[in-house]
Amino acid sequence: MIISVKTGSRTQMKDITDQVRQAVTSSGIQNGLVHVCSLHTTGAVTINENADPAVPVDILNTINKIVPWDDRYRHMEGNSAAHIKVSLFGPSEMVALENGSLVLGTWQSIFFCEFDGPRNRKVNVTILADR
Ligand code: ZN
Repeated sequence: MIISVKTGSRTQMKDITDQVRQAVTSSGIQNGLVHVCSLHTTGAVTINENADPAVPVDILNTINKIVPWDDRYRHMEGNSAAHIKVSLFGPSEMVALENGSLVLGTWQSIFFCEFDGPRNRKVNVTILADR
């Protein structure tokens, strides 16, 4: 199943947990593993805190310092920083599914990480069913 994500700035962490839940619910599968994978080379998927909106801000501020937008990169498209960030974060996450619910901690959410937006993005959700 494909989830559509519209981002609004060059770097952004957008909570997609509800969209993943909807995809899982529509599958009818109750138990297994849910793989959530960005279909882009400049957008990642991560799991982190949803409660304090300052956490994603701090993460983005820090990753933007670690990987500056301009740094004599060779990639002609001019967005090497975004490619590097995706490789640091990774394109996907795996979450357990138990009795129809994602197994996430109280403060955990699944985020799409935009590193070269704003863009319309796609995230693939695959469920490995445990029968
Ligand atoms: Zn590029």
